[in-house]
This record gives sequence, structure tokens and C-alpha cells, in this order.
Amino acid sequence: MYYDAKNMKLLVIEDEPKLNAGLVEGLRERGHTVDFAFDGIKGEELARSEFYDLIILDIMLPERDGLSVCRNLRTYKIQTPILFLTARDTTEDKITGLDVGGDDYLVKPFSFDELSARIRTILRRAPQAASDILELDKLRIDTRAQIVTVNKKKINLTLREYCLLEYLLRNRGAVISREDILSHVWDRFHDSLSNVVDVHLKNLRKKLPIDYAKRIETVWGKGYRLV
Ligand code: CA
Repeated sequence: MYYDAKNMKLLVIEDEPKLNAGLVEGLRERGHTVDFAFDGIKGEELARSEFYDLIILDIMLPERDGLSVCRNLRTYKIQTPILFLTARDTTEDKITGLDVGGDDYLVKPFSFDELSARIRTILRRAPQAASDILELDKLRIDTRAQIVTVNKKKINLTLREYCLLEYLLRNRGAVISREDILSHVWDRFHDSLSNVVDVHLKNLRKKLPIDYAKRIETVWGKGYRLV
């Protein structure tokens, strides 16, 4: 599947525990990083503090309803694509959702295939949040094809090494903690007690030409920095 080829970061805001868990699990199985919230306030906080490729937002939520969350995010100039979930199959509800800046809606109950199709459609027409090509001198990453080259020569990386390098490049110059890497590149609930980041970073350095490997600095006690 097209969108599954890319490791995306998604946010699920849904108060029904079973549906929330089902969505999170299904999306993670497809290789995505997924954060979740059960109410509108917590969901909006996450949406404003982290970068997501897409937000799945229920309309009827405790604390703050989905329409208000969407309206607030757009007010703060956060343009992350939003897919509304609604239990109410009324035209009025759908129109309101799209009026406040949502990208599409899905009426409950829905199948995972329907959800996948809707996500693909939204992402196809959404403006790219970031450029497809990232460059660092002669090092080039095509984020759509997930191909890394140096001087046009392809570097073979595992998916995690690739994601790690892309994340470092997107945040070049900044010190990135292991925590940051775990929450953005890896699922925050997996592997968080091991030295998984260091191991993958070591492997990534080995695969890069020495000039580039040296540019990933270890900042003692803090994390890493690409210079
Ligand atoms: Ca609900």
C-alpha cells in the first residue's frame, strides 16, 4: 500500500477505549508510530507539541469536542491533515467538520480498509509538510522513496537506520536526546529501556562515509547532534 510504505507519525484522539486501542494497534502493525489521547484537551496538547503526519479526531469527546480541537489547531496555524470520526451520520455534522478545517470524515462504524483508503486520499492531496528531498552536502535523502545516496552512490540502510538519519537531518544542528529519538523514530512504548538508539546509531555511522559519520556527534549526557 502506498501510504504504508512510509513510516508516518499519527495521533489518534478517541474516547472509546476499544476503538482507540484498535486504531492504535492496527496502525502500529502497519509500521506507523502512533500516539493517542482519550479526551480533547490532552489530544490538542499533543497535536500542538509534536509533529504528526495526520490526526484521527473523534467529534464527540470529553473535556473538549473534536470540532473545537480542530478549530483551535487551525487558529494556531497547525495544518496537520485531520480525519474526523463521527457517530452521527448527519449532513450538518460533516459540513461543520469540514468548515472548521477538517480534511475528511468517516462515519462509525467503519472497517480498517475504509480508514486506510481515507488516509491515503487525504495524504495524496495534502500539501507535503516537508520537502521530499533532504540534503547535507553530497548526502541526499529522497524521503518518498526512502533512498539515501552520497555522491549518487546508494547507501543501504535498515528501516530504523533510515528513519534515524532522516530525523537527524530534519533536526540538524540541534541536540537530540535519546528520548526524542525514541518518541519520534521509534514507538515510545517499545524498547524504551534498552540501548537500542545507541546500537542503531553505531550501525548507521558504520554505513556512512567517514566524513558524514563524523558529523553525527555524541553530546555527552544529552544525546546526539548532526553538524
Ligand atoms: Ca466519542
